[in-house]
Amino acid sequence: MSKVLIIGAGGVGTVVAHKVAQVKDVFTDIMLASRTKSKCDAIAKAIGDSRIKTAAVDAENVPQLIELINSFKPDMVINVALPYQDLTIMDACLATKTSYLDTANYEPKEEAKFEYSWQWAYQEKFKQAGITAILGCGFDPGVTSVFTAYAAKHHFDEIQYLDIVDCNAGDHGKAFATNFNPEINIREVTQKGKYWENGKWVETQPHEIHKPLNYPGIGPKESYLIYHEELESLVKNFPTLKRARFWMTFGQEYLTHLRVIQNIGMARIDPVMYNGVEIVPIQFLKAVLPNPGDLGENYKGWTSIGCRIRGLKDGKEKTYYVYNNCSHEEAYKETGTQGVSYTTGVPAMIGAMMYLKGLWKKPGVFNVEEFDPDPFMEALNKHGLPWVEVHNGDLEL
Ligand code: NDP
Repeated sequence: MSKVLIIGAGGVGTVVAHKVAQVKDVFTDIMLASRTKSKCDAIAKAIGDSRIKTAAVDAENVPQLIELINSFKPDMVINVALPYQDLTIMDACLATKTSYLDTANYEPKEEAKFEYSWQWAYQEKFKQAGITAILGCGFDPGVTSVFTAYAAKHHFDEIQYLDIVDCNAGDHGKAFATNFNPEINIREVTQKGKYWENGKWVETQPHEIHKPLNYPGIGPKESYLIYHEELESLVKNFPTLKRARFWMTFGQEYLTHLRVIQNIGMARIDPVMYNGVEIVPIQFLKAVLPNPGDLGENYKGWTSIGCRIRGLKDGKEKTYYVYNNCSHEEAYKETGTQGVSYTTGVPAMIGAMMYLKGLWKKPGVFNVEEFDPDPFMEALNKHGLPWVEVHNGDLEL
């Protein structure tokens, strides 16, 4: 018997709800809550499982969250709302002694700043309360972090060079759309690049470093070095890393739109006055862009995300590439959402399952690479995200 409360009814929340409903022996009671209850009701109706209850909640309001948690009494809260709500949800979990899982690190609204410091500061409090927080359990961060832990555990004595490569070779037929929440996505990809080398962070201009990389089953795609949050915890948890970088593919059309959006001020995150009303341009932009949750229907092609690693095994240098390819069309058939929501929601369900089965249960605040990767890797193969390994291939990096 275990109960989960899912907060957030966007693309990722839709996938989490589908996936937890599929694993009936682990998840016996499910509640889906979000700002707009009608979205939760529509998801529950599409899944057609009477065990899914729904509720409205403002996840920035701690007393409201506490009331909801106390009324439903979940064993774990799966937070797939927005990164702005991480801390209020963690506060409510602390107050009710409920374990917590999320897929993205906390970000203050007024500054696009990606770091774990705010959430790591809850370590002692969670430990004392005897509850677990699992941070960053989507695909990247999430599966990429588990891939790294798995490589370090099974294939290397020392991992030294890590390149996380994230390719979306899908086509949704729109001139411009983002694959997850536009506000969060645009804040992430327009910031300066940053990577870890020889014990320090090296900063680059946005999209300054790029090169074509070959993705399995897809071919070459221009890939851009950007900063991504899992780098921070991975270099801390794997101190043998001499270099850690993150690459993401972008099409020319996407980059051109992004440049225009920035140049005309629509990516601004500070409020401006318009007709006597305060609006935040990037939030207004979100309102007119396609909803990422609705892109699935005509989305064709694949995502390919993985880790390319170089290091030492038995005194010799070796390379290792582990990746998953996910079809947007298959994701849509199963859950009604596109591949990016799917690759995020499946690992969130698996992380919750790891906790509820007692496999990833320890008091405190942890990034996913701090748990045993083996049962998680096994579950990926069973629940829709199978992975492939290449030993001693050309990493191109
Ligand atoms: P969406 O914008 O589609 O959905 C967000 C949901 O959160 C919406 O249902 C929204 O409600 C709800 N929400 C927003 N504010 C509040 C609030 N104050 N109280 C209650 N509910 C609220 O986002 P996605 O589903 O695409 O992304 C969800 C999360 O997943 C994000 O944090 C994103 O960063 C993360 N992510 C992680 C990835 C990974 O690989 N680790 C990859 C992709 C995404 P409403 O509908 O009313 O606006």
